[in-house]
Amino acid sequence: MTWEVVIGLETHAQLLTRSKLFSGAASAFGAPPNTQACAVDIALPGVLPVLNRRAVECAIRFGLAVNAMSAENVSRRSIFARKNYFYPDLPKGYQISQYEMPIVRGGAIGIHVNGREKRIRLTRAHLEEDAGKSIHEGMHEVSGIDLNRAGTPLLEIVSEPDMRSAEEAVAYARALHGLVTSIRICDGNMQEGSFRCDANVSVRRPGGPLGTRREIKNLNSFRFLQQAIEYEARWQIETLEGGGRVEQATVLFDPDSGETHAMRTKEDAHDYRYFPDPDLLPVAISEEWIEEVRRAMPEPSTVKRARFSSGLGIPAATAAVLTADPDTADYFERAIAGAPGELARQIANWIAVSTNAKLNERGISIRESPVAPDELRRLLERVADGTISGKIAKEVDDAMWSGEGGVDAIIERRGLRQISDSGELERACDEVIGANPRQVADYRAGKDKAFHSLVGQVMKATRGKANPQQVNEILRRKLASWPPAGG
Ligand code: ADP
Ligand code: MG
Repeated sequence: MTWEVVIGLETHAQLLTRSKLFSGAASAFGAPPNTQACAVDIALPGVLPVLNRRAVECAIRFGLAVNAMSAENVSRRSIFARKNYFYPDLPKGYQISQYEMPIVRGGAIGIHVNGREKRIRLTRAHLEEDAGKSIHEGMHEVSGIDLNRAGTPLLEIVSEPDMRSAEEAVAYARALHGLVTSIRICDGNMQEGSFRCDANVSVRRPGGPLGTRREIKNLNSFRFLQQAIEYEARWQIETLEGGGRVEQATVLFDPDSGETHAMRTKEDAHDYRYFPDPDLLPVAISEEWIEEVRRAMPEPSTVKRARFSSGLGIPAATAAVLTADPDTADYFERAIAGAPGELARQIANWIAVSTNAKLNERGISIRESPVAPDELRRLLERVADGTISGKIAKEVDDAMWSGEGGVDAIIERRGLRQISDSGELERACDEVIGANPRQVADYRAGKDKAFHSLVGQVMKATRGKANPQQVNEILRRKLASWPPAGG
């Protein structure tokens, strides 16, 4: 019998505000411990929180973006709640979050996996403050508390349990990452913890009721997300098939062993004694405010993606790659400026395949690419106008990546112009036919593979510069009447 894996993600995106959610202390990453924690953040008695307007605007942006810029999902009124628990890095004894009235409800994000489009529904997105950090260090096993992170604004984005595999969960996390970075509400830096996911995983018999979930905490890379879900799903299936039970729990993923381990049994919402925070007024969001936020925000990756695929005819999977981060989308848009549709599609494909492979190999971002967007367009224009073949284009691209200069200079210096002179190509074809009687015979006997080999040899003889289409035509014509009359 088969099992179906069910996954829902809770993602914390650290918001790109200069100061904290309820205080004026800076929220920048990397400062020495406790240098960015003010009286509010360390919870001195008598202090009062003041809501950061920018953080609310980030949440409104998100609400607009998850429904193609419609404000339908932005609550006009939301409230903050206290989530009570004890932990050394939480001096107030509660976290200010949102419970019953989050700032964003509903919406969806499209993903693309294995050639299939799927919509992942969002339950909600709410504002909350981050906690501080316990630091364990030194040979004396001293623990310290750094409250720099306390009060940092987060948007927690909760999905419905709509994903059915680790691949889908990763595609969703990538799409969400692309979205929050495109609208500039989060820097997306996963190493620094600006974007981290909790994965809720359960398994069930297809069509049956939802199984009991375990929640894997704090996954801060797409690779860990994938590995953790795969391990967890396998573990749950093995446990159930071995006659065991899955208990609801919070688990941690250990990247070294690739395993998940239970950390604590899961609290229920009532354990936290949520109640409205009496120090904070409800947030009222007017239509005017929403309009003001809408006017100021960059185009969301989700909208861009639809524009690329339906507007430019770019395959959905490619459009997803191009909008995975704002720099790639920006590079693509600069490269296609003024390009006709077919050329734009070729540029799209080139970036998604070749450029991405080279960036990954070198571990650099597209902003550091040695090939400027207009040089990439010129490269593909030279293929389109027949100056070089698609194969030679790869050589020119490699040369640009090694710093040899622009497209046209490389073509001239290396003598890469495509040979379209039919006299020269006819001679090359004659020579190859003359030197390969066996393959000629095979082709005449109906073996098409022999033909490809002959084309390959002409390409080789011309060092890849022959126009392949012309070579095809000339060879077919010559072979059709082989041996030549009187020959
Ligand atoms: P919390 O984890 O804070 O208790 P929720 O109960 O709202 O919050 O669920 C959080 C996440 O768990 C959501 O993303 C939801 O889609 C997911 N989820 C809920 N039930 C299941 C389940 N049976 N299997 C997998 N994911 C689930
Ligand atoms: Mg949870």
